Amino acid sequence: MADRRADLNIDRKSRAYQPMQPVAKQDASQRLEHFNEIYLNYEAEIACIEAGRCIQCPDPAPCQQACPLGNDIPTVMRLVENGRFIEAANVYRQTSPMPEICSRVCPQERLCEGSCTHGGGTSGEPVRIGKIEKFVIDYQIATEGIPLGTVALDTGKRVAIVGGGPSGLAAAESLRRKGHAVTVYDANPFPGGLLIYGIPAFKLSKDRVAAKVKQLETIGVRFVPNTRIGRDIPLSQLTAEYDAVYVAVGANKEVPANWEGANLKGVYQAGEFLIRANVPRPLQPPHLAESGRPVVGRRVFVIGGGDTAMDCVRTALRLQKAQGYKLDVTCAYRRTEAEMPGCRVERANAREEGARFEWLTAPKRFIGDKDGNLIGIEFIRMRLGEPDSSGRRRPVPIEGSEYMEPADTVALALGYWPDATLGEQNPELQTHDWGLIVADPQTGKTTMTNVWAGGDAVTGPDLVVTAIRAGLHAAESIHLYLSQS
Ligand code: SF4
Repeated sequence: MADRRADLNIDRKSRAYQPMQPVAKQDASQRLEHFNEIYLNYEAEIACIEAGRCIQCPDPAPCQQACPLGNDIPTVMRLVENGRFIEAANVYRQTSPMPEICSRVCPQERLCEGSCTHGGGTSGEPVRIGKIEKFVIDYQIATEGIPLGTVALDTGKRVAIVGGGPSGLAAAESLRRKGHAVTVYDANPFPGGLLIYGIPAFKLSKDRVAAKVKQLETIGVRFVPNTRIGRDIPLSQLTAEYDAVYVAVGANKEVPANWEGANLKGVYQAGEFLIRANVPRPLQPPHLAESGRPVVGRRVFVIGGGDTAMDCVRTALRLQKAQGYKLDVTCAYRRTEAEMPGCRVERANAREEGARFEWLTAPKRFIGDKDGNLIGIEFIRMRLGEPDSSGRRRPVPIEGSEYMEPADTVALALGYWPDATLGEQNPELQTHDWGLIVADPQTGKTTMTNVWAGGDAVTGPDLVVTAIRAGLHAAESIHLYLSQS
């Protein structure tokens, strides 16, 4: 399909009036019984109808421009409309190394679907691009597995990847396909980074990530788990042993909580809470695996307003359900819903599952009993003041508005910082704000000889799909460097 518009004889007006075909998901009561994915896939016939809503905008199509990977969405829609699902899946694979993951975790409302002409048009609902991507990729995997693809002849060059999250995996695949020997070092027992250790399985099945890792192993990528560069092996050793190094360690140090009582029993950092609840025990770091699943109480509060907060809320609801408690989980956020950074769809899912929200409130201290167990939280009401550097209105405490809430469990989802260790240990690796690595925004090249960096370690916490894009760009730059050296 060289020119998707060449044979186009479609009635755009009638397509613009076609209603969106919703994707089925499990009932909230059913979802709370497990930690597995909640969305069902389109039936093939319904996927064809939904793809047929696409009005085939002229190039450059706004959805394609809004996709960080530049996926050729209009061509996919034409293929799906005509039942050519495997071909459609392969169009995704030309630009995306992990469509089975992006289709599940991208905030499509802000990306491809957010720019769909339908969104502002007569039907008011964008084409469900993400769900169609998920359908065709799952169809392909069920039919023929993840295609192995091709690998170029060995170049004799060696590349180390530091961090096996989405950015590291994307770079590893791209470099391996170009014929380089690639080794991925990861601090955790299994690669995947936040795909395994952050995003809960009810949003992204761990099996999908494991299948991707398996595919990379099969094409020759070598994985070295339980190895933290900067602690177990110095970065300088990698730069000496390898022709190039790509640093993609993410931003996974939790913002510390400075409130009184933050170390009471029952107060969790989001990262530990999510890993212990959602990651299969054999994949957990040993110091967490021995603690088992978190035991939540009857009254749970989650502090924060991002996607991690919503992951904690929905995890806590499932834990309460498993423990036989009445659901009582509240997300407390210091601004209003309009300023919440997390994905609207995930908030809607949390609401359906029984979550409550308290806006314009923040903890002042956590209160414990004589045995050090959390029993309550003192909150203070906030109002919105002037905008801060992020452009969002600053929350300002209202004096005298303190109030108490009984609580048994708190999850703190306050955000993440990068780990500054590599910059501290290697002065030639320039860093800035809290340890973010300075790197060329196009190529990922750092100030250190034969070292590139990308993803959250460079930008701070961002999207999976932008981390993947950074890995692909760095791989191109590394390949060019290796080809010339
Ligand atoms: Fe949309 Fe993400 Fe897929 Fe791009 S990668 S088409 S933004 S779901």
